[in-house]
Amino acid sequence: MSSVKTRFAPSPTGFMHVGGIRTALFAWLVARQNNGRFILRIEDTDKDRQVEGSVEHIVQSLKALGLEYDAGPDKPGPEEPYKQSERLDIYRKWAEKLLALGRAYADPYSKEELDAFRKQDQENHLPFLYRNHRPDSTLAWEYQSSPLRFKSEPKAYHWHDVIMGDLSAGEEAVDDFILIKSDGYPTYNFAHIVDDYEMQISHIIRGQEFIASTPNYLNLYEALGFVPPVMATPPPVLGPSGNKKLSKRDGAKDILDYINEGYLVPALLNFIASLGWNDGTTKELFSVEELVQAFSLERVGKSGARFDERRLLWMNGAYIRNLSPTDLDVMARPFWPPEAGDADQTYLHKALLLIQERLKYFGEIPELTRFFFTDLPLNPDLISSNPKLSELGKPLLKQLLEQARASLEQSDFSLTDLSSRLNSLLETTSQPAGILFSLIRIATTQAPASPPLAESLELIGKERSLARLKQQIDAL
Ligand code: GLU
Repeated sequence: MSSVKTRFAPSPTGFMHVGGIRTALFAWLVARQNNGRFILRIEDTDKDRQVEGSVEHIVQSLKALGLEYDAGPDKPGPEEPYKQSERLDIYRKWAEKLLALGRAYADPYSKEELDAFRKQDQENHLPFLYRNHRPDSTLAWEYQSSPLRFKSEPKAYHWHDVIMGDLSAGEEAVDDFILIKSDGYPTYNFAHIVDDYEMQISHIIRGQEFIASTPNYLNLYEALGFVPPVMATPPPVLGPSGNKKLSKRDGAKDILDYINEGYLVPALLNFIASLGWNDGTTKELFSVEELVQAFSLERVGKSGARFDERRLLWMNGAYIRNLSPTDLDVMARPFWPPEAGDADQTYLHKALLLIQERLKYFGEIPELTRFFFTDLPLNPDLISSNPKLSELGKPLLKQLLEQARASLEQSDFSLTDLSSRLNSLLETTSQPAGILFSLIRIATTQAPASPPLAESLELIGKERSLARLKQQIDAL
């Protein structure tokens, strides 16, 4: 076992979206490629921000994506417990140690007093630092009564971040922050440092909102005599416009929604890994095993990665095209429309093979296949909204369809015969495929798009194809 140990440490404050999953994925990849350990730690110390059901949701999302953790709230291990709310005595022990070292003190101020200090500093054009108002006399700290603050020893810091490179901050970035709140719960700032030490975490991978506080953390590591873990802070995932952080409004969906809509797990992982990371070549498609081999934090870019859903669609489509016929059948199973009800396996399979090329996610199956199972109502918009067709005028359209029907009536509806008849029709009608085939396609499917025409007709079958042609002719 290597000494590499990473953790995913979400706060249970809502659903998991792409940004959170990316953090988890990077930590998982680093652990797996080093034959290390990956653990799930729930950071539930801020009771006000908690959303019920989030822990179950986090667990379910990681499992659905195959990001298995070696230990977590539902999986015992030597680092347990894995919920911060169950580790309060551990934080208290370290808090008392800091008190004994003279590096912590009870915060005596009320909110009003603090506001007054803040105002005073503002008037004097000074940055507000709590340590400038540190009380002279120290009260005894009473657990679950007053907050406990860190007594910082300000200094400038230079540190290395695997992704962001060499970072630095002056001593004004170090302050007396709260370690334990008056409710007895630790702050994130304190709890994660204690936990990462106790759990022997080797790499911290987390969002950039924590960079500003890192000098405080470094000061606390020193006070406790801990060696800080390796730090890696990927830049945020940006919305499609590329100039602000991805938000729910940009379509930052619950990751489970993607899975339910028929996105493939390897495609999702490939896409999420590529938000900010590449292997230095032009290769874009990586299997999960390839990601484990090729991923490196050093090659994560320093600037934000843009979330482009079209790229996800493209990537997912590429994975679907590569599926074996059997996998395709199995994965498509939950997505058939109700109209497919009693269709037999062979028929379903043929329909799938026809759409495999263009399918971007399985949730599109109903829209792309319904006409194989049922006669859709005539949709006059399909012709009227197609300028090439509508400008020919109804009499000509009708005549073209009659010619097609006359020829197809003679067909045995084998693919070869259908193809050769359709080609001859192009000659006899002197129409381009863009017109004639679109017209026949609309008449026989009543769908805005369909797979190649001859193949679709073969599957729809002679009787239904001719009946649909007749219906369209009558309507013209
Ligand atoms: N609990 C923090 C959050 O959800 C995680 C920070 C960390 O990974 O240390 O933002």
